Amino acid sequence: MKIIKHIGTWQKTRIALSTNKTLGVVMTMGALHQGHLHLIQQSQQDNDYTLTTLFVNPTQFNNQDDLQTYPNTFAEDIILLKKIDVDFVLAPSAKAMYPDDYAYQISEKSLSKILCGRSRPGHFTGVLTVVMKFLQLARANRAYFGEKDYQQFKLIEHMADAFFISTEIICCPTVRDHKGLAYSSRNLRLDAQGRQQAYQFARIIRQYRSMHRVEEKLNSHHIKIDYLQEHFGRRFAAVIINNVRLIDNITLDSFNEANVMENTLNQSVPG
Ligand code: AMP
Repeated sequence: MKIIKHIGTWQKTRIALSTNKTLGVVMTMGALHQGHLHLIQQSQQDNDYTLTTLFVNPTQFNNQDDLQTYPNTFAEDIILLKKIDVDFVLAPSAKAMYPDDYAYQISEKSLSKILCGRSRPGHFTGVLTVVMKFLQLARANRAYFGEKDYQQFKLIEHMADAFFISTEIICCPTVRDHKGLAYSSRNLRLDAQGRQQAYQFARIIRQYRSMHRVEEKLNSHHIKIDYLQEHFGRRFAAVIINNVRLIDNITLDSFNEANVMENTLNQSVPG
């Protein structure tokens, strides 16, 4: 595994790769977990080479506290990436990624303004800008993103179309732990009680078809709701637990028979 910190070194390495071999890229902010590993393994299955980026992107944080407390586990991440035999790791400095001091930005006018975009002004401009930079640097055949950040995935997919990017943008399913909680680097910041609340969050949003019921249940567990909305046949939720912002989303056709039954029963109970 080659660990590369300098962009110029990566560019030379990229040029040296044979043109008839394929490259997959997985962009991460580190603090790696099963969700990231799944993306990487998918890339390894589909491509001759896999590049993983480790970069905590400062421009996508609208809150400085959030940036300061974002988990940093670089040494552990490297051990993990070596174990699964990733070919290249690119971990540049913020200065190197923003030689223009963020003078040039990619913004979107519609989808980026709702859900996370509404709660975190400027967030998606930071995300799209850094993803475009990494797409240009990687010149990969395929780039892998998680369904867990579905709004982000859609924005990136549309951006790639809008700018005629030839890299194929691929969405991988959300990876959850045995209690249904979506893996997230931010889960590391939860205390024991917060973790229990996070489990309830994951359970509640997937259990009840009625949004009113979901809201009621989240409130009863003292889980602060940032947003809870349905768009494009999906339910999106963001909550704050222990001062940590957690997001999740599910397709509305993921409700199983038991939930439908529960819903029907609820509807038939007066009051
Ligand atoms: P992050 O390091 O949080 O910026 O995430 C890097 C990539 O991993 C993004 O494409 C995320 O959508 C994806 N990802 C994060 N958590 C999960 C998860 N639990 N399941 C699948 N993909 C994930």
